[in-house]
Amino acid sequence: MTSQFGPQLTGTELPIPSNGMGKQTNWPQLFRELWTVAGKAVRERRYSTTVSTCNECQLHTIDKHLYHAFQAMEHFEALIVGAGPAGSFAAELLARAGVKVALFDGRPEGEPKACGGGVTAKALKAWPHLLNAVGRTVDQLEMYSPSGKRLHLQLEEPFAIYSRTAFDTYLRDRARTAGAQVFAAKISARGIKRTQNSWTLREASGASNRADGSEWSGGMLVGADGAGSSVARMLAGPLPPSEMEVAFGYRAPLPESGEAPTVVAFLPAWVGYAWAFPRLDHISFGIATTQEAFEHQPLDKLLWDFMLGYYRQREDPKAKLWASRKTDRERDQRIKEKLASTAERYAARIPGLNEKTWDTRRVCGEGWALLGDAAGFADPVTGEGIYYALRSAELFAESFIGHSPLEYEERWRQDFGRDLKRASQMRRRFYGNFWGAPFTERMIEFARGHRGIKRVLGDLVAGEQGYVDLKKKLARSALRPV
Ligand SMILES: Cc1cc2nc3c(=O)[nH]c(=O)nc-3n(C[C@H](O)[C@H](O)[C@H](O)COP(=O)(O)OP(=O)(O)OC[C@H]3O[C@@H](n4cnc5c(N)ncnc54)[C@H](O)[C@@H]3O)c2cc1C
Repeated sequence: MTSQFGPQLTGTELPIPSNGMGKQTNWPQLFRELWTVAGKAVRERRYSTTVSTCNECQLHTIDKHLYHAFQAMEHFEALIVGAGPAGSFAAELLARAGVKVALFDGRPEGEPKACGGGVTAKALKAWPHLLNAVGRTVDQLEMYSPSGKRLHLQLEEPFAIYSRTAFDTYLRDRARTAGAQVFAAKISARGIKRTQNSWTLREASGASNRADGSEWSGGMLVGADGAGSSVARMLAGPLPPSEMEVAFGYRAPLPESGEAPTVVAFLPAWVGYAWAFPRLDHISFGIATTQEAFEHQPLDKLLWDFMLGYYRQREDPKAKLWASRKTDRERDQRIKEKLASTAERYAARIPGLNEKTWDTRRVCGEGWALLGDAAGFADPVTGEGIYYALRSAELFAESFIGHSPLEYEERWRQDFGRDLKRASQMRRRFYGNFWGAPFTERMIEFARGHRGIKRVLGDLVAGEQGYVDLKKKLARSALRPV
């Protein structure tokens, strides 16, 4: 007997869903999927198990309830978990190319991703549309050495600072406009199941009151769910805590004077740096350091000292950043009290892979891929990850659209893999000693007295100067006249 799925079919062909790569799903697989869905339906007592003939679809050989349950689950070519920069940009590019995409994010509304929100000039040049997101561009940067020496950098190309709520919403809206279906849903790791050529995703229990079944199926699973990615843990294995950086900070009000410089200060006697990134309506202060060097209390105190110094300098240009003078006491107390009642704390991790891990970690396989932080793509020296999130999304989308998703692995390695590996090699040296003082101290000292070195440093901030040839560039600049 010929089975027909719906009136549009003729002959013996079944309405087999596309698996995302234009191939066709086979019969046994479809049956397994139906069986999985029906099992769930029965557990939830939404369907009966009686075998019967359906008047609507004339389905005789398989229980109509299995078929209808399957119909309730929408099928996509790509399922992207996480709508940060990586996931949203990948969704947008795939949807533009006609791929049927579902994009999921479980972040509660109004809760921003913990981030400084700095986006390099290199990223702005690669994707100029980013400048349409609400943010602030910055063309001057104050840098401080660990001992407090100041270097003013006039940047040839500005970078941007965004509130992550504004930035992420902008990118997500673009994905939606391009045709991606966006779901406010947290996908639980236990709710990810694989059949032969397909995936089913299930919303974490208790995550919403969605009434429509909360399951989705698709041919390609993309993990863009950030540094703590459960998709990456499942598909590429967990990263040890030592391969994570720690970043924490406070969102605080803009200074009353209205003048709010952008500051990066290398920490005195500590690995890492503090930043002050002014946004449109507040400042993001923070410290990024390695997991190894992280100690909550002393680093939190250091950040408070930094914030205090930052506001102190807005009221008195002669005041020091790190050191408080006797005459500063009263003012400091007032600033502290105000900050204590207004500053909102945030903290999160950033991947910081070790040198060897860059060779061994795989970020894609048959039917799956990882992007951005989920893949481990962040600069191990600075913690910058937005550029790599966007670039990995682009490289993956191009590979997928070109019907060679596995080429993504080779492409990211060639594109930015070498540079990130070099950054891992340099991390210890960058925060280590050089000629009897911290390297960062020497770097700022040299840049204060040498235009060439200052320019290389500016290029580093702009994201235009990679690590692979950094040493050569610095040496060459140092040999040129001041
Ligand atoms: C404090 C701090 C400061 C930083 N400052 C900068 C900076 O100034 N410049 C810079 O370039 N980089 C910075 N970074 C790094 C940067 O934030 C990340 O590299 C970047 O956000 C990575 O983008 P992504 O899309 O891969 O992941 P994310 O931006 O983390 O997005 C992942 C998304 O997945 C969602 N998600 C997670 N789990 C699930 C789930 N189970 N189901 C559904 N959705 C899920 C999350 O809600 C989130 O929206 C900073 C990081 C930190 C922690």
